Amino acid sequence: MKKGKKIYEGKAKIIYSTSDKNLVIQYFKDDATAFNNVKRTTIEGKGVLNNRISEHILSNLSQIGIQNHLVKRLNMREQVIKFVEIIPVEFIIRNVATGSLTKRLGIEDGTVLKEPLIEYCLKDDKLGDPLISEDHIYAFEWASKKEIEKIKKMIFRINDFMVGMFRGVGIKLIDFKLEFGRLKNNGKKDVILADEISPDTCRLWDSITDKKLDKDRFRKDLGDLIPAYTEVAKRLGILHEQSNVSAVNITKLSSVNKKRR
Ligand code: UDP
Repeated sequence: MKKGKKIYEGKAKIIYSTSDKNLVIQYFKDDATAFNNVKRTTIEGKGVLNNRISEHILSNLSQIGIQNHLVKRLNMREQVIKFVEIIPVEFIIRNVATGSLTKRLGIEDGTVLKEPLIEYCLKDDKLGDPLISEDHIYAFEWASKKEIEKIKKMIFRINDFMVGMFRGVGIKLIDFKLEFGRLKNNGKKDVILADEISPDTCRLWDSITDKKLDKDRFRKDLGDLIPAYTEVAKRLGILHEQSNVSAVNITKLSSVNKKRR
């Protein structure tokens, strides 16, 4: 498959066209941003780990019948994905209250929620991804009622599956963000899961110590982000075939990849 032109560049990923109009290549960058792009840096090796972790989660989700955009991983930083029209809503799913929820509503950090809570944010960096209600989605036709009903069902299944998957490796899934897209299918448009699922988009705490194994290490200046993401990958069994892969090796591999480009 031939890699074509860059068609979109986001904060953490780049999308390239391919010779097949229905497929694109998703490239994982090392850039880290937080607080609506105010805080920015590059963390060598982050893209490599997110590519592997997201591939692992999305292929597991495929196996339980959650349709998603992943076709296959190409190399350390790239995967082939189905080209979809992204729904301009970020779906936040919370199992434990932390982050913006605790600040906004004065809920105590770490409060375990009785049921998973879904929040909607408009996907618009210029506006700082504002929180919206379900009715805003219908009022401004960002998605239809039928689409949101289907998405909500998928979200609860994805959450159930991921909570269990992470619990099995000693990690609590605190919250995460999902994006969905429309895939053209014989004139119809099917809604499928898109984007990435990785420690950049999830909050993951060690089950025993509550150590943060996610992007909060960058947001809160806790350091050691690569060792934390590597720990997540190792626990999920992703780095099994390279059990000696350390943060240093991942960094080396990613710079070799960079030189090749
Ligand atoms: N999240 C994300 N991208 C965003 C906003 C949130 O991936 O643009 C994820 C974030 O990593 C966390 C969850 O969604 O796992 C809930 O985020 P919250 O609203 O608490 O974010 P904060 O404002 O605290 O970063």
